[in-house]
Amino acid sequence: MPTKVKVEEEDIGLGNKTVLDKVDKLRALNVGMNVPLPQLIVVGDQSSGKSSVLESLTGFSFPRAAGLCTRYATQITCRRELQVYTDISIIPRPSASASEQERLRAFHRRVEGSNTLDLAKILEDANREMGIRPLDADSTDKTTSAFSEDVLKVEICGPDQRHITLIDVPGIFRTATPGTTTQSDIELVRTMVKNYMKDSRTIILAVIPSNVDIATQEILELAKAADPEGVRTLGVLTKPDLAFERVTKQNVMDLVLGKRNDLKLGYCVVKNRNGDDVDSTLQQRHDSEKAFFRNEPWSIITNTGRVGIAALQARLSELLLAITRKELPHVKAEIAKFLKQNREQLDGLGPPRGEASAQRAYLGKLSTSFQRVATCALDANYVHDGIFTDKPELRLITRVIELNEVFAHTMWQRGHMRKFETPSGMDENDLPNSDRVKLSFKIPFDDYPELEGIIEMEPYECEPPIKGSIMTHIQAVYDSSRGQELGTFGSSVLGTTFKEQSKKWQHLVMSHVSSAILIVHDSIVKLLATTIPDETVRTTFWEDVLFEKLCNAYKRAMDHARFLLMIELGSKPFTYNNFFSTNLEKRKLERYETKFKDEVRGANADDPFPPISTITFAQFRNMTIDRSNAEQVREDIHDILLSYYKVSRKRFVDAICQQAIDHFLLNGGRSGDEDDKSPMKLFDSDLVMALDDGKLENIAGEDAGTKRTREMLTAEIKKLEEALKVLRG
Ligand code: GDP
Ligand code: MG
Repeated sequence: MPTKVKVEEEDIGLGNKTVLDKVDKLRALNVGMNVPLPQLIVVGDQSSGKSSVLESLTGFSFPRAAGLCTRYATQITCRRELQVYTDISIIPRPSASASEQERLRAFHRRVEGSNTLDLAKILEDANREMGIRPLDADSTDKTTSAFSEDVLKVEICGPDQRHITLIDVPGIFRTATPGTTTQSDIELVRTMVKNYMKDSRTIILAVIPSNVDIATQEILELAKAADPEGVRTLGVLTKPDLAFERVTKQNVMDLVLGKRNDLKLGYCVVKNRNGDDVDSTLQQRHDSEKAFFRNEPWSIITNTGRVGIAALQARLSELLLAITRKELPHVKAEIAKFLKQNREQLDGLGPPRGEASAQRAYLGKLSTSFQRVATCALDANYVHDGIFTDKPELRLITRVIELNEVFAHTMWQRGHMRKFETPSGMDENDLPNSDRVKLSFKIPFDDYPELEGIIEMEPYECEPPIKGSIMTHIQAVYDSSRGQELGTFGSSVLGTTFKEQSKKWQHLVMSHVSSAILIVHDSIVKLLATTIPDETVRTTFWEDVLFEKLCNAYKRAMDHARFLLMIELGSKPFTYNNFFSTNLEKRKLERYETKFKDEVRGANADDPFPPISTITFAQFRNMTIDRSNAEQVREDIHDILLSYYKVSRKRFVDAICQQAIDHFLLNGGRSGDEDDKSPMKLFDSDLVMALDDGKLENIAGEDAGTKRTREMLTAEIKKLEEALKVLRG
């Protein structure tokens, strides 16, 4: 490769050099993929001399046979290295499919030394990879196209190279050439050029031939749209040797001298080799350029610092430096932002899970965090985790307590079939309704059809007890089961009347436990959604493992409720609770009291203020007679039933809440035995340890996509960390 004009490094100073070096290092790391880096692009009409300018600046010349005009963007990077070589590769267009990108990335060729002979062949290969239509091919061939959005990357290395990166883009054109280019190609190229120009870190070299009317140059309009302030657009006039008329030459000189400043950065003028010159060296061409500008009328402007390729090179270095200095802090901030995003994304994936041990560790970690929140939910310890504020349905124990209260209250107010008839007409069951009959939240009956068959899927509305028929009922039972008892009654009477009186318990209890299961299930589903962020893992774990175990735990709770019902309602009534006899005694006294009151009222019928506390013995004696045995027994049965019902109800409500709900659904089973664990305790480390390798792989193994994402993120993070190191250094 020919040597190039050298701008002495001292010209830009050592500090400046490190700034530019940093950008080159970032580019070598391929950071340009994430964050736009300061760069130079060469734009202009077709045949305006873009590639020639590039060649003069970098020394890289495209073999003439490779194609008449530029068909894709070419990024040329020069780097100073001891070894002399040129690397050629392809940066795939972002819109290409993954496999296509892979294929294009695989293209890589190296030319050792300064031998340019192989280059034509390599570029032909690259063209083929990118699907560029050969000149002699049929233009209707759909597998090829005139232009490509892939980028050809050329890295020129050698001890004489100066660090610079330039991008050559296809020239814009206005008329399609039948058989070669189409109307849509015109648009494609225009869009490509616009895209390259729009970034604020890009310096635009707008190449304009001297021998045309500059007013007709569309590229200046495009540049103006991309850079309205004109602070990063530099005009480069080419082909001054083809400007023959005096006015044309004068126009060029006026532009260079800044007499027309439509561009703040002004214009430079260079002379490249003409189309007939095929064998000159770069040095010869530079000499010829110098000689050319020594001629009249150009000699007037030679000292403006804007004439000739060396001047342009110096100017570009300055511009690049200025823009780099200004933009580098922003570049750094953007890289840091990307790094953070990538790290968060990688964190979300968890550690790599190729082997059973890693998969177990991963699931184990998830189970720990599940148990941590679950314990808080059971202890009403809601301050430690923000999740309880975001999702009130996770405040499990609070909801269950409310549900239990409503259950206890409903049992008290409505659980009995018929109203008891106490002499005073008042029974504690008749106390006015408190506000504890309605729940403050909704039970998700409609959300979990998968629990059909295990729980009751409909809410149960308990009717209030029937009024005024209990004595009739007792009489009927008594009449139908009477033996030869005298003043007593058969043991089955109490059992039968009690069963009738507590007929609604079955429904009330099963509905209560079902509601509790729904609340628990709902909170487990929602908690899992946050503790296992990976949806595939969550779904597989749920379907393969957890759901079945949960259902078993729910069944255990339902079965236990049934067991308690059977014990309480099915066996002979009995209790050791002295509350029963106290209550019974109270009922008897109550009945006497009522009679006393009636007697006193009768005896003192004419007295407006009857002395209710006094009664004669005769009156007292009268009170106990006058009643049939049957009536007496009926009253006795009623009072015993009432006293026993009360004791039984309290005992039963407690047993349900303590055993079926608290033990079987919430806190039970701290032991290692899975068949004894409450649903809240099921997803723990024991469960994870017990999974066999096959199941583990199925749940926590990574699919190819996740693996690829992880690899990609890891590589990106490494690259961006490297980049930040470069920027800090
Ligand atoms: P591009 O299509 O913009 O890349 O233009 P090229 O760089 O391929 O140049 C088009 C033609 O103009 C080629 O034949 C070049 O040799 C020729 N050319 C470029 N610059 C100059 C110049 O300064 N003077 C002369 N005489 N010819 C030039
Ligand atoms: Mg070109």
